[in-house]
Amino acid sequence: MKNDDVVAALLRREFDGDLSKADPQLRVKYDFKLKTREEHMKEIQDPKQEYDMLIVGGGANGAGVALEAASRGLKCAVIDSYDFASGTSSRSTKMAHGGIRYFEQMMKLEGDPFENFDLLKETLHERNYFLMAAPYQNKQLKLLIPSTFWNSLFVYFPGCLAYHLMYLKQLMGSNYDVGVDGPSLAFKNKIRSLYPDIKNIHKLSGVLMHETQMMDGRMNLNALLTSSIEGFIPGMKGANLANYVEFRDYIKNAQTGKIEGAVLFDKLKQKEFKVRSKLVVNCAGIHADELRLKDNPSTFQRIIGAKGTHLIFKKGMLPQDQGIIIPKTKDGRLIFILNYLGQTMVGTTDEKSPITHHVQPDQTEIDFIISELKQVFGDDYDYQGNLESAWAGIRPLVKETDEDRKLKAEFLGIETDPTRMSILQKASHNAKRSLIWFGTKIHGTKEGTAAISRNHVIEFSPSGLVSVMGGKWTTFRKIGEEAVDMILRDKALSNGFEPKYKESQTLNFAYIGSYSRAFALFGIKQNQIQLFEQYEDHLVFNYDIPRECAKSLIHSYGTLALKVVQTGDQASTKQRKLNERLHPEFPFLKSEIIYAIKNEMVEKPNDIVCRRVPIGVLSKQAAVQVMPEVVEIMAKEKRWSNSQKKQELEEALANLQFIK
Ligand SMILES: Cc1cc2nc3c(=O)[nH]c(=O)nc-3n(C[C@H](O)[C@H](O)[C@H](O)COP(=O)(O)OP(=O)(O)OC[C@H]3O[C@@H](n4cnc5c(N)ncnc54)[C@H](O)[C@@H]3O)c2cc1C
Repeated sequence: MKNDDVVAALLRREFDGDLSKADPQLRVKYDFKLKTREEHMKEIQDPKQEYDMLIVGGGANGAGVALEAASRGLKCAVIDSYDFASGTSSRSTKMAHGGIRYFEQMMKLEGDPFENFDLLKETLHERNYFLMAAPYQNKQLKLLIPSTFWNSLFVYFPGCLAYHLMYLKQLMGSNYDVGVDGPSLAFKNKIRSLYPDIKNIHKLSGVLMHETQMMDGRMNLNALLTSSIEGFIPGMKGANLANYVEFRDYIKNAQTGKIEGAVLFDKLKQKEFKVRSKLVVNCAGIHADELRLKDNPSTFQRIIGAKGTHLIFKKGMLPQDQGIIIPKTKDGRLIFILNYLGQTMVGTTDEKSPITHHVQPDQTEIDFIISELKQVFGDDYDYQGNLESAWAGIRPLVKETDEDRKLKAEFLGIETDPTRMSILQKASHNAKRSLIWFGTKIHGTKEGTAAISRNHVIEFSPSGLVSVMGGKWTTFRKIGEEAVDMILRDKALSNGFEPKYKESQTLNFAYIGSYSRAFALFGIKQNQIQLFEQYEDHLVFNYDIPRECAKSLIHSYGTLALKVVQTGDQASTKQRKLNERLHPEFPFLKSEIIYAIKNEMVEKPNDIVCRRVPIGVLSKQAAVQVMPEVVEIMAKEKRWSNSQKKQELEEALANLQFIK
């Protein structure tokens, strides 16, 4: 058979091939069962269960560590005192990016150019990981940097090209078949045709460059859910997951002071319980100091909160998968204007902030973003009338010490003690120091949170607490890999661990929703674009789903979109149709609520409205409008009494106050 015929035969079997005889190791990638919260909690509370790691915090860092540990064959549990990704990780700019700003800083010798170089190498490598791990969800984003003709030609284009070359170097070191395109110059006509509604930039030139956009809350969840599947790759130990479980205290050995477990609190059942674990991994984001201080009250505080606000405007200004960068704001940073799920997202600010889970944008930040946006959208745009929502998140920036840098250098095998360096090493060390000194002389020492390093720090305490702090969403997988590598390298810390793999496996498999039935049957990976188009057509023609909704389903769930619609079909009655829009202006379906309750550990209405079906991120008014129906559907599924239903609705609406 010709190759095309084989593919055609596979496509025909996508929706009816018999999985019963499939190789179990292939089948598990497509045909698996996700546990409910009750099932996870039962396993977590089993007194016979002992974990290699208890991971506190189910944000990006917690997900990165869990996926890495589980795929190496280590048994772990992830707890979060709220919903997974409800902290900083669902309030980002949603970019898996190298960071053009770090590149600019590196070239201008601002800050430490070597640190910026290392960070860029990491982020440029990892941005492709997003395209590989959830290809249905993470997309290439075309970004315009508008400027004058000469600036575009001699400043931005060469800069973006060098940035892309650095990326290509990273790409050559990996065996991915995905990637983002290089930069190109754009002149007036092109800009006018790409952005017909944004007249203010029609007289400018610019550079078009590319980054990757993700759906942060769902990416976080998908990584966690993937980590929970036993045997997803051979030897993988499914992680236990529990949202609404708070870390309360350590259980330590009275003689050695070593951690042996933890006291946890189930916020839904209002019940304290204990778990046994060889290690506690602190991925509590902005709350990491609370766990560190509980372990060692005399330690210093490391976390500095830096708040960032985003505004969402009504759809229509930007085409799909496109955006614009304002390269320099009044305070010298850059602002992204992006098409996010059809709406226009603009951000972000960077202000020192107190630590709190429930953070709200200030009017001054909203005004600041609007004043910067005027450069692009002009004075005539109705900013207040088009503003749909505003929300904020707090970055956990970490105070890095010399000890951290030494530990990292040791891990990477870099000599830091000048007395032990060879002549060549010493010369390079001195050259680096001189360059940093020179940069400081030109630019001075920067003030404010934007000047604090975005690096992550992994800290080991003698009791067995490992704190994984800071970093970027983009590097969450790499942070997980580094943390698990460092733990396994420390013989005392990993005493009793029996990993299946010494090396990281996470670059070798994609997440749930990426695999097809044909893959489960034959182990053949189809062209992803073709596969998702085929699913889209199937939903439209066989389930009568509007095209826009089918696209949205594929974007959120990949091949699992079919399961969402089938779940909706099964739960529908004459009175209650679920494969219908939740809100007339958005493509999300009511069946997504039922699917999320059954498969994605939804416990509160805001879990739906702010993360699983992120209507709240896109429009506060729409979130308020759909909330009663979301509560109604949840109440039926979860058998809430009328009084609980009322209480849940009040609580859910009150929680929306954090979105403006
Ligand atoms: C405005 C903004 C924009 C950003 N944009 C980008 C971007 O575009 N690209 C990028 O790469 N990075 C971006 N970042 C950075 C990125 O979002 C963060 O680095 C990342 O989300 C941090 O993840 P985390 O897991 O450390 O924290 P979190 O997501 O906050 O997770 C920590 C979790 O720990 C839980 N927790 C805390 N205490 C306890 C306890 N006692 N018991 C149980 N659980 C607990 C919390 O509930 C929380 O869910 C941005 C950050 C901000 C603020």
